[in-house]
Amino acid sequence: MNCCTRHPDSRAAWRCQRCKSLLCSRCAAPDGARVRCVGCGSFAEPLMIRKPIPPFWSMLPTFVRWIFRRRGLIEWLATGAVLGLAAWLVRFAGVGTVAAVLYLLLFVASFMLIVRRAAEGREEMPDEVDLHEYDELGLVLYRFLLATAILWIPTLLGLLYGEAEAGLLGNPVLLLAIGASVLYAPAAVVAAIAGRSLGDVLNPVQVLSTVTRFGRDYGVALLVLLVMGGLIAAVRFGPPGAALAGLPVPWVAEFVIETISLLPAWLVALSLGRLIFQNGEELGLFSSKSLLVPELPGARPTGVLERPEPELPGEAEDDELREAVRAGDAQAAAAAWAGRAPEDLSLSSELALRLAALLSGAGEHLQAAGICRQVAERDPQDPLAPRALYTAARLLVEMAGQPESGQALYRSLAEGYPDDPLADKARQQLGESGDRSTPGPSPDGAK
Ligand SMILES: [Zn+2]
Ligand SMILES: [Zn+2]
Repeated sequence: MNCCTRHPDSRAAWRCQRCKSLLCSRCAAPDGARVRCVGCGSFAEPLMIRKPIPPFWSMLPTFVRWIFRRRGLIEWLATGAVLGLAAWLVRFAGVGTVAAVLYLLLFVASFMLIVRRAAEGREEMPDEVDLHEYDELGLVLYRFLLATAILWIPTLLGLLYGEAEAGLLGNPVLLLAIGASVLYAPAAVVAAIAGRSLGDVLNPVQVLSTVTRFGRDYGVALLVLLVMGGLIAAVRFGPPGAALAGLPVPWVAEFVIETISLLPAWLVALSLGRLIFQNGEELGLFSSKSLLVPELPGARPTGVLERPEPELPGEAEDDELREAVRAGDAQAAAAAWAGRAPEDLSLSSELALRLAALLSGAGEHLQAAGICRQVAERDPQDPLAPRALYTAARLLVEMAGQPESGQALYRSLAEGYPDDPLADKARQQLGESGDRSTPGPSPDGAK
């Protein structure tokens, strides 16, 4: 627990980025969506703590409440309706196979989407559609099909060579495949979501070794799977299914059965995702950043700035520099900066990046890169830090003729801020420059 620097009795919710004071509500002034330190006027950032990991089952009520609210109901009923339609179409010779494939894809996609959300610690499913999420879902689906290939290939073979009339009990290969699936499938789901390389996904030994590290929790997940699987089977093959099958209306029986069975299936998905979430940090599955939440999420700044403008401790030359940067005067800024090292930087991050842009415009790429780098390194929590790193890297690679140092910065951006959109661009840059650095045809080999 952090206390305010000025008011030791009050809890602090922010840290000033420049004077590093811890700030309570009274010491923090609102400025649009951001917060400023009342003492020095600089921007302050919320203090972050590790996301507390609630007990395994605490997510259940939240999830069930979500299902029965508008957005959850729509997702549930719509998925049930389309699954039901596909299940109903399976009986028709012309479209049966396509319908079966669509059924499986939709089911697996909806299942994996829930696993993924729960693996990120989200109990409530999001209201807004995150396109990024669906983008990744394709990858997850692909990995899931690979991870379960060891199950579905023998199952298909069992179906192909088994005697259809003998039924399930007369088909030992199929029976064995189903038994193995119950034990292995949850591990495959975990590997598809959490495995880092394709090896983690494809190699059954790797897959199983990941889940053995979950210990007892994996047993709990298996138990959930068995109980829920039993429930689904009871609905489908028990009296409810039989009663529904007698309905004279097409598709309705399938719709009801699929919708009802979806709920236990999603609960299995939830428990598997939760398993990943709870063990993820230990397994190194998450970047540390995604595990941070504000220490005092409800805190509102109520202070009033003692100085209206953010002012930096200043000798006269800093004021000169600041004025030049604000005015966008590259010559004056370069003159005021001349002879100084990045460590002398006392400008706010925003002004410092503007100074770097001015210096780069004046041809001082190396100095500009140094300033950007200093901005990123003096406070890695600074929201401008990723942009500063990216700019520094780009200047070094493209303008200053120092590709190695630039690539090192791209790498620290990609590794230090993996969730930042600029990290993607950095990885792209690394990929491209990697290609470029592979040896091309030697000069004498050229035609
Ligand atoms: Zn301050
Ligand atoms: Zn205070």
